[in-house]
Amino acid sequence: MPKQRLVLIFPSYLTEKPIAYHLVKDFDLEINILKAKITPGEDGKLVIELAHTSQEQIQKGIAFLKEQGVIIEPISKEIVLNEAECINCGSCTAVCQTKALSIAPPDWQLKFDKEICIACQLCVKACPMQIIQVTF
Ligand code: SF4
Ligand code: SF4
Repeated sequence: MPKQRLVLIFPSYLTEKPIAYHLVKDFDLEINILKAKITPGEDGKLVIELAHTSQEQIQKGIAFLKEQGVIIEPISKEIVLNEAECINCGSCTAVCQTKALSIAPPDWQLKFDKEICIACQLCVKACPMQIIQVTF
């Protein structure tokens, strides 16, 4: 199913409007909120993933967001991992809220799923080997 991840900046006058509700009800989109920072009276920031069987429907939802005054930014940063030097300590997995970084049995080797990374960069400081970097 086509998916698109976006950073949404909500001007303060929009933070209490049910915009996510309209994306679901009026545009039939699946929404996955990956990160949210909303404080009433202040600008809000959401990292979301929109999904629908039709890419066109996702674009309609994005157009609706823009009409409402939401500022949309692509997720432009990317995490790069030097896997050859990883000691599989798990420190980065403990801070990764999206589970893009994971360690599990049977091999207990670090796995990185780029598709669900939101480039929050929390893992960068968590790595004792300093092998996680951000590219712009
Ligand atoms: S930047 Fe690191 S901590 Fe943040 S989602 Fe991506 S892999 Fe996880
Ligand atoms: S914190 Fe660094 S060394 Fe530890 S598992 Fe993650 S990438 Fe590997």
